[in-house]
Amino acid sequence: MTSIASQDNPESIQDFQAFNLHPLLLQAVEKLGYQKPTPIQAQAIPVAMQGQDVMGAAQTGTGKTAAFVLPILHRLLPYASTSVSPARHPVRALILTPTRELADQVAESVRAYSQLTPLRSTVLFGGVDMQGQTEALRAGVEVLIATPGRLLDHMEQRHVVLSQVSVLVLDEADRMLDMGFLPDLTRIVNAVPKARQSLLFSATFSQEIRRLSRRFLHQPVEIEVASRNTTADTVSQCLLEVNARAKQQVLVDLLKEKSWTQVIVFSNTRAGAGRLARHLQRQGLKAEAIHGDKNQTERMRVLEAFKAEEVSVLVATDVAARGLDIAGVAGVINFELPFHAEDYVHRIGRTGRAGAKGEAISLVDTKAEARQLADIEALIDRSIERQTPPSSAASQRATALAGRGTTSDDPIFSQPYVPQADNEQAEPARRRSAQHRSEGAAKRSVGILLGGK
Ligand code: ADP
Ligand code: MG
Repeated sequence: MTSIASQDNPESIQDFQAFNLHPLLLQAVEKLGYQKPTPIQAQAIPVAMQGQDVMGAAQTGTGKTAAFVLPILHRLLPYASTSVSPARHPVRALILTPTRELADQVAESVRAYSQLTPLRSTVLFGGVDMQGQTEALRAGVEVLIATPGRLLDHMEQRHVVLSQVSVLVLDEADRMLDMGFLPDLTRIVNAVPKARQSLLFSATFSQEIRRLSRRFLHQPVEIEVASRNTTADTVSQCLLEVNARAKQQVLVDLLKEKSWTQVIVFSNTRAGAGRLARHLQRQGLKAEAIHGDKNQTERMRVLEAFKAEEVSVLVATDVAARGLDIAGVAGVINFELPFHAEDYVHRIGRTGRAGAKGEAISLVDTKAEARQLADIEALIDRSIERQTPPSSAASQRATALAGRGTTSDDPIFSQPYVPQADNEQAEPARRRSAQHRSEGAAKRSVGILLGGK
């Protein structure tokens, strides 16, 4: 997979002329008043124009729609027809979005970018009568924008033929996965030709997105604009080399020594988070777990208690903690290193917010977690300072016992960490609300991005 990072590409395209887009598209862009391409456009448009598959990540509000629509229109223009015959207007590009609102918004953009061309487009989404949509499909459209559910309804009723689709777009693919569209997507993708161009856009390159791209894309070029591998300077980072079996005791000592009023401890699994919270409670610490196996009411209660400082140790999994913004969190402890290095950045970003100082401490079994550690240090481009664990009698005893291969009191925890099936998966409601919150910020940053628009 080829990867393009914005910072590797300082000579990115500064004006729309340089793309060699079809003149009718350039005129439309001018008409819309776009002065210069946004970073994702500068990088994705040339690649997509060549017909290559693209996996693109950029924040909301950074012009991703034009980044895929302009190349699509450019590639379809040679097939454009002014004929009234529906047969001359087969569906050639299919754009899937997770929500009705997005489908409508993308359709509006497609109309704007294609306004001077004979190419036709229409949008399909649920919640409205199918009749008008069916008529538009009968008349023939080259560009079809749809939510998966309503498209399948039309497919079942044979209102739409997808055998001539040459470009498939999955917009906001991360949200589509959150919303559980994978079975629908699979059915739709099976109905379009294998020989096609596929473009996938998402806010991040999560593991799920990579899996999806392996399934639906062919040797995609990865383009990422937002840099996610930067850690805030307000957070000091260190790691304690601890044998897996001694981790629980070292954690207890550390929490008692630091006596933070609010600290988040990250565990890689839901079951692990639950067990760890119970262990800390037995040690007299005010700890609670927050993870995806708890229902929403329970999670809200735990979070409220943590915010109110009734709970001082929040044991969390990655997904449950994503987007949490709690001002007073002075420390983050990684009980285990995450499998995906990006999660390390997200985890330690829970502290040191809004200019406050924060401390991130990772308990690392350097044998079992060597790969994760190497990945993280490569991603953040620095080595994390090694420190000696606090040495209470109990933790020394635990370390010594661990060294002799004796089991500690909790057998499940004394095992070196291995990937498990209960690793956190996406949690639709929470992820969506986190995204929702970030959208405001992203929209605001468009102005800056586009030069004070
Ligand atoms: P995203 O899909 O990344 O959330 P959109 O494609 O919806 O972003 O674009 C956000 C807004 O920015 C839209 O109003 C769009 O018209 C505008 N826009 C896109 N590209 C440019 C550009 N190059 N210059 C100025 N405005 C742009
Ligand atoms: Mg978009």
